[in-house]
Amino acid sequence: MNNPAQTVDAHSVMFITPRPEVIMVEGKGSWLVDNNGKRYLDFLQGWAVNCLGHGNPGMIEALNAQAKKLINPSPAFYNEPMIGLSNLLTANSCFNKVFFANSGAEANEGAIKLARKWGQLNKPGAFEIITFDHSFHGRTLATMSASGKPGWDTLYAPQVPGFPKAELNDLDSVKKLVTDKTVAVMLEPVQGEGGVIPADATFMKDLRQFTKENSILLIVDEVQAGCGRTGTLFAYQHYGIEPDIMTLGKGIGGGVPLAALLATDAVACFVPGDQGGTYNGNPLMTAVGISVIEQLLAPGFLDSVKAKGELLRSELLALSHEFNLGGERGEGLLRALILGKDIGGKLVELARDRAPEGLLINSPRPNLLRFMPALNVSDDEIRQMCGILRELLKLTT
Ligand SMILES: *Cc1c(COP(=O)(O)O)cnc(C)c1O
Repeated sequence: MNNPAQTVDAHSVMFITPRPEVIMVEGKGSWLVDNNGKRYLDFLQGWAVNCLGHGNPGMIEALNAQAKKLINPSPAFYNEPMIGLSNLLTANSCFNKVFFANSGAEANEGAIKLARKWGQLNKPGAFEIITFDHSFHGRTLATMSASGKPGWDTLYAPQVPGFPKAELNDLDSVKKLVTDKTVAVMLEPVQGEGGVIPADATFMKDLRQFTKENSILLIVDEVQAGCGRTGTLFAYQHYGIEPDIMTLGKGIGGGVPLAALLATDAVACFVPGDQGGTYNGNPLMTAVGISVIEQLLAPGFLDSVKAKGELLRSELLALSHEFNLGGERGEGLLRALILGKDIGGKLVELARDRAPEGLLINSPRPNLLRFMPALNVSDDEIRQMCGILRELLKLTT
């Protein structure tokens, strides 16, 4: 620990984002350790990916055991973990069929293709999918086009056509965009990158009823909000609705590349040649997915996520009162603190660079902070995180 900080030579790594001059080397639970031995309390968890924290023993065991047995027989064959995870997901949701992918964007591409295919069969000429301002669906060309992120309409223009944008929680804005060409509406139950904005209960219920009455599919992108993050296994379950299609990513693999496209029997209309992928449903990743979902479904686990979400909520509200901030919002362990001024980026940096221990948080918009800790974060770690924030807010407000 007395050694001077090592410099990082990463000239061969393609530049896509500014990174701090450290290398992350180890992780355990809610803590990450860099090459200088500095510890960080991790409330990012790989952008809501490591739902069971770093170094989860069940996941490691599943990965090791499956690696020894069979890594990839090719997607042309069934394998045991592929079937096991499909069964687990369909038994615990309103969906009947599962297609595995490797990233959230790829799962969403699959959802878009499935909806367009369903349109060809059931509503000739319909291909448009209504999405929402400030939504985020991934970084492939089609999912960037589906996203409502400012600036993305011109970056890499021309866009993939067919994604008119409505406003979240405004059913009239959806109705105005509906034409004979409309095949689906796609939304995040809680907009994550957009700043942790939940869809309200009446909007979601009314949207489901409206889409059903007009033969329009409802697609929920639960890449960020699914897999226990909001306190139920899937976020749509808060609303008492049943969507036609759902996508999962991030948490489903607990950190390994795994994603899924789920659909009801009525909608799952792919025929051979329509969809595929070299790594789709590979046993190495789906074996990890089984371990993750089984841990999320263990008795009491999701209740503990709800309780921890409440604790985080009350701690953030206390900070908001103390420093005269704009409150907090979110669901379960996907929450945001509204700062009321553009100090998010500054706080993220101060938190990370703090000594002796750093804190990892994120600011998807300059006037708020987002928190997505491991779902098994301890009460103590939540209080510790808020203690560090208190210290930093004193410096900046
Ligand atoms: C992260 C995210 C995606 C994209 O997932 P990748 O695995 O990065 O491709 C899609 N939708 C939502 C809601 C996300 O949060």
